[in-house]
This record gives sequence, structure tokens and C-alpha cells, in this order.
Amino acid sequence: MAWYLFVSLVLFAFFFMEFVSWFTHKYIMHGFLWILHRDHHIRDGRKMEWNDVFALIFALPSVFLIFKGALSGNSLFLAIGIGIALYGMAYFLFHDIYVHGRIAIKKLPQNKYLRATLKAHLEHHQPHSNHNYGFLLAPMKYYVSEWSKKD
Ligand SMILES: [Zn+2]
Ligand SMILES: [Zn+2]
Repeated sequence: MAWYLFVSLVLFAFFFMEFVSWFTHKYIMHGFLWILHRDHHIRDGRKMEWNDVFALIFALPSVFLIFKGALSGNSLFLAIGIGIALYGMAYFLFHDIYVHGRIAIKKLPQNKYLRATLKAHLEHHQPHSNHNYGFLLAPMKYYVSEWSKKD
């Protein structure tokens, strides 16, 4: 497989995972698996959350595809597996570290994208909020308002 096709597939899987996460968050985590997501909405500084089970669930197809792809030389599987894994890392860095500070970091990066996306997720955490189910992408209005501010 040509390298640019491989990279495109990795990127496609990465962005598709944002859609999968949004869908899962809205219809499953806030639906019949609320029992696993509920403790993520109780911000009391607990170290482990039942919600972490979702990260494990999403890691399984990624691990499977990477191994299967690498062992059998299937570039399609490998690219999609890597895309899912990269999404998982980005999700963890942004959602768990940047937004919720589960690992303390002294100096966090600041930019308009991060500020807008952070604001949207914090609003998701407001009591009775029923919007902003995405993780790495927020509704457009957050970016518009962040970009229209003066620095
Ligand atoms: Zn939620
Ligand atoms: Zn959260």
C-alpha cells in the first residue's frame, strides 16, 4: 500500500473515532450504559472510574487490528488500528489530563482550539447538561466565539 494511502487511512480512522466517541457518549454512555459513565460525572477526585472501562473497550479492536495487521501484513487493518490508538492517546491527553487533570502537569499548553474545546466539555459536565457529547471537537459556536475574542 502506498504510504499516502496508509496515512490517509490512519487519519480517517482517527477522525471517524471522534464520531464513534460522540455517538457512544450521547446514545450509550448517557443511555443504557450510564451505570458505567455516571461516576465520571461525579467529580470527586477518585483515581479510578468505572468510565475507564470504555477506554479498555475501545482499545480492544485497536490492539486486535494492529496485531492482526502486523502479523499478516494487512496494511488496512494496521492503519485503522493505529488510527484508533492515536485517537485513544489524543483523547486521554485532552480529556483526562488537560480537562480533568488526572495527571498533574504544571504548565499546560494554551491555544484557542484547546480553550474552546475545554469550555464545551466543561459545559457538558454542568448538572442537567444535555449537549457537547464530542471530545476533541466541540460545536462550531465555541470556536467562533473563541476566535472572535481579542487576545
Ligand atoms: Zn458525559
Ligand atoms: Zn469529562
